[in-house]
Amino acid sequence: MHEYSVTENIIAIVQDEAARAGAARVGSINIILGELSTFSGQSIEFYFGELSRGTVAEGAMLNFIYLPAKAVCLECGSRFKPRHAFYACPDCGSPMFDIKQGQEMFVESIEVD
Ligand SMILES: [Zn+2]
Repeated sequence: MHEYSVTENIIAIVQDEAARAGAARVGSINIILGELSTFSGQSIEFYFGELSRGTVAEGAMLNFIYLPAKAVCLECGSRFKPRHAFYACPDCGSPMFDIKQGQEMFVESIEVD
């Protein structure tokens, strides 16, 4: 249920951005969500409905942009797509790899009315 606090953060960011843009209403919010991120878009959406009430973000559409997972093996340099954070390299079996993409969760942009 850590989506609750992350949704609070999203709304705080959106409020700042909307204030900076002098907007009274936010049309949509684009959120980057990595495939390996532990956040669920559905839960964020649920809390957003509750938490945005009475704020400039109320009624805004949430667009999730899903980023695929990408990793590089630290042993053999192989590039592969890890299915989770405790995966092993499919070429050499090493559990040591750098996740290059897939753990992100941030507000990419907002569209204001
Ligand atoms: Zn490897």
